[in-house]
Amino acid sequence: MTDCFAEQGFYWRPVGGNNIDQISGHCYQYTDIVARKSGLAATTIIVDLGKFDNHQALGVKNSAAAVPDIRDLLKTPFLNPRAIFLTHSHPDHLNGIVHYLKAGFLLPPLYGGIYTRMILEDLYRSFNVPAYMQPDFICIGDGDEIKTGSLKIEVVAASHTCFDSFGFIIKSKSATVYHTGDMKIDNSTYFRKPTNLKRLRLIAPAITHVVADFCGITEEGFAIREVDTFKKMVKIIKKSRKDKIFIPVYPTHPEMYLIAFLAALKLRKNVVFYGSDDFYSYLRLIKDYGLSFDKMAQGRIRIFEGGQNTVRDYGKSFVVIGDYNDIGDCFGDSARNSIGLITAKTFFNPLKGQFNSRNIKFITVEDAPELQGYGHGFIGDFEYLNSLLHHPIIIPTHCPCYIIDGCRKLMQFLGLNMVTVTPKNNQTFRLEKEKCTLAAEAPATWLVVSYSGGNASFSEVWQKPTSGEGFLKRTFSARRCRNKFSMFLLQRQKGKKKDANR
Ligand SMILES: [Zn+2]
Repeated sequence: MTDCFAEQGFYWRPVGGNNIDQISGHCYQYTDIVARKSGLAATTIIVDLGKFDNHQALGVKNSAAAVPDIRDLLKTPFLNPRAIFLTHSHPDHLNGIVHYLKAGFLLPPLYGGIYTRMILEDLYRSFNVPAYMQPDFICIGDGDEIKTGSLKIEVVAASHTCFDSFGFIIKSKSATVYHTGDMKIDNSTYFRKPTNLKRLRLIAPAITHVVADFCGITEEGFAIREVDTFKKMVKIIKKSRKDKIFIPVYPTHPEMYLIAFLAALKLRKNVVFYGSDDFYSYLRLIKDYGLSFDKMAQGRIRIFEGGQNTVRDYGKSFVVIGDYNDIGDCFGDSARNSIGLITAKTFFNPLKGQFNSRNIKFITVEDAPELQGYGHGFIGDFEYLNSLLHHPIIIPTHCPCYIIDGCRKLMQFLGLNMVTVTPKNNQTFRLEKEKCTLAAEAPATWLVVSYSGGNASFSEVWQKPTSGEGFLKRTFSARRCRNKFSMFLLQRQKGKKKDANR
């Protein structure tokens, strides 16, 4: 794999993230090759080391996970892998780390946010990773700049669905890349630093390439903002005139815990946190991170945790926030006077059944899309980013290749300068001013992880379509994507004509 690195230059390789049909297993390599007196010298950084979700579909018996394959990168001293930069704490960006450690690999120092470190420490505990095996962790924040070898990396806050989400501006002599990480433009926020547009505007002339999170590119307009989710929740609850409100939320999305809590507070309803062990462990992390629900409440509402209390304690009017699919006895004697707000697409299907059987009305994200928190920019977010920066080369990632192929015409119409080759995992691109060229390619693989006696071992498998068992088949099929993009293009073309005729 070092062949293409025989020449000076700055290189980018998606190891996972430009997948066939899944959004999962993110991991990217940046390698800078410079000439020194002694010959060529390399500096490599890795951005994220996630897990691939649909490992069962890869056909290895007793598999526990699958991870991107960075083994040769770690084993090639010439490449000089100096650091792993972590954009945020979600499993598809972070959870590969523990499996590599459990398989006996040494990893370079990790750079990430405080919350990311908290989640990682939780993973170390649950996988029994002893302290001596844990790589150094350096906490970073918005505005920090880290120099390593011939690269400089600047940290830029990103609006996403968890604390401490970052993008990185990676500076080399040949090119300056803005690696967005998972992000949207939304600067309404209840709990985090929003995407640092001020800094991006300032540094815009230097940015030559954007490695962009195209996860939400199948939707028009701007990504739904946190404030819109909050307002919609308040509006639905108010209009319902019900006293008992059920708001199930995804455990890994702290922003929804908070938005639901703030909606309850606004309407002066007591809050009952109620869910699985996973839910409570994230609730603890949110509190450990420094967020105090009691402080926010200032005695205006009462807050309960778990099922220790009886419905009578909760008072007349309350909101249940949790990841439950079983609402237990939270109704009191009667299910009347209750409403459910379902904030995720399919996760809470069993709960819908419970609501139905008890004649409780509920609103879903199909009725009110704002109810689902969004972490990824839509088309409008990237149009905005493109105009904020100076039309850099856009390198899409964090989506299947067919989405990139499908949106090309539309993006061209919108003036986005997309890389001409659709990047696939394990292709290496050479980045220089106004250029992004394919320099090398190799078959892409996942490493399937199996555990025996507490240790992990890897089996290498070719990457293949796995959507038969994944969620993408239902939500983002290639055909549906193509149709959506042609419809958007038609609407935009019509809009332009109208404007011209005015
Ligand atoms: Zn994420």
